[in-house]
Amino acid sequence: MTLPADISERLSRLALPGQAIIDGARVEAASGATFHNVSPRDGLVLNQVTACQGEDVARAVASARAAFEDGRWRDQGPRAKKKVLFRLAELMERDAEELALLESLDVGKPIRDARNVDIPLAIGTCRWYAEALDKVYGEVGASPVDRLSYAVHEPLGVIGAIVPWNFPLHMAMWKVAPALAMGNSVVLKPAEQSPLTALKLGELALEAGLPAGVLNVIPGLGGVAGEALALSMDVDMIAFTGSGPVGRKLMEYSARSNLKRVSLELGGKSPQIVFADCPDLDAAAEAAAWGVFYNQGEVCTAASRLLVEAPIKEQFLERVVAVAKTLVPGDPLDPETVFGAMVSERQMKTALDYIATADSQGARRVLGGQRARKDSGGFYVEPTIFDRVEADHTLAREEVFGPVLGVLTFKDEDQAMRLANDTVYGLAAGLWTSDINRALRGARRLKAGLVWVNGWDACDITMPFGGFKQSGFGRDRSLHALHKYADLKSVSVTLR
Ligand code: NAD
Repeated sequence: MTLPADISERLSRLALPGQAIIDGARVEAASGATFHNVSPRDGLVLNQVTACQGEDVARAVASARAAFEDGRWRDQGPRAKKKVLFRLAELMERDAEELALLESLDVGKPIRDARNVDIPLAIGTCRWYAEALDKVYGEVGASPVDRLSYAVHEPLGVIGAIVPWNFPLHMAMWKVAPALAMGNSVVLKPAEQSPLTALKLGELALEAGLPAGVLNVIPGLGGVAGEALALSMDVDMIAFTGSGPVGRKLMEYSARSNLKRVSLELGGKSPQIVFADCPDLDAAAEAAAWGVFYNQGEVCTAASRLLVEAPIKEQFLERVVAVAKTLVPGDPLDPETVFGAMVSERQMKTALDYIATADSQGARRVLGGQRARKDSGGFYVEPTIFDRVEADHTLAREEVFGPVLGVLTFKDEDQAMRLANDTVYGLAAGLWTSDINRALRGARRLKAGLVWVNGWDACDITMPFGGFKQSGFGRDRSLHALHKYADLKSVSVTLR
């Protein structure tokens, strides 16, 4: 298709970042290794990106450690730190169009989402933690008269941030901003599918005045650069968002190295429950469709299980299907597109395999199920809905991380709660009802870190984000995230 003139023009002069940022400089891997960075939009190679290996990671960690120990960032006062983080937010705003284009090209998400959601939220996160950093107070204990005892928050030191590809800049900011706000140094490892905006972020941070070494960005393969970072004896914490299997490895690496702290945000199989007394079926149908199909289903909180009370199941499902039919896969760079490409050929195949499994297990496919736009060379899958999913079907148990919705039916509140909680995950859950008692009861009974009543994903940076059970531990967003990047030190001064 022909792209709008402004996008074609920007595309023609877009510089694709490819080098790591270590100790304030753009560098190649010592070995010279690179990897192909592919765009899911058309399956073509966008650029070659530095593939950091163990020695590059060691160099980045050493640089972060030196920066931390000499206090070039840690010891700056709150005002000075704020100034740099606010400047970084301004620079991201200045380059917002470029960042949005990089994000859309790199992960296949619609440019309108990158423009309206990813980049503004990343900028907002940076500002929020800049504003919050001097609102973190210690405590004074109830000391005897000849003693003063107090507790202070001390930065941890070197933070390894390992982030995923679904919201690359936004997830990076959820970790980088509070970690920097508390005075730490950071080594950021973007996913190999989506390194571009992280590299740009590293450049902008230097332009904003963040001292060299305080934020290093090391693109590379998870099993090489990520593993080396997580096994390092000189990293104090790994802050991770990604898959459960890698989360488990990170805990092992911690045990095998220096017992570094680990925080894990690991996806889910989130239920959205619609009771027959739902106050607004149209709004619930919108939420049911967008809750699972937004970002092509590549969302850790995706509402991938829809639980509907039996009497309204048929009519409600019709409404959900009607909304989903409007989500037609299109070129991510077309500003009209609302549903783009999946991040990689591998992720597309995973989604298609889950669809084949659901077919074979007897669920009833009522929408989609095919690869789309094959001629483009890109990785597109139609929004797909299965009815008559049973609790023991694979689709009810495993995270697809793609545009596939499973619909289950329930008879009463107890069964709804049992089904909702019948999962190893516990990231998000939602319920729609007009009964305030049922809403509040349900909010307590649902085993999830985030619960939404009569809405989906209706919260923001002020609220903690993270999971129960195998969805991980530790919280992003909110003031709680600041505490994650600090240790408490108790000081007692005896008066003589
Ligand atoms: P992943 O967990 O493999 O990758 C996430 C990050 O971890 C990437 O930066 C990757 O390079 C890094 N990594 C991979 N192996 C590593 C290792 N051994 N040591 C250290 N770091 C390592 O996720 P994926 O393969 O890109 O996606 C697979 C599944 O992960 C998805 O299907 C989905 O279930 C889940 N996922 C969840 C989220 C989320 O937001 N919770 C985001 C992306 C993916």
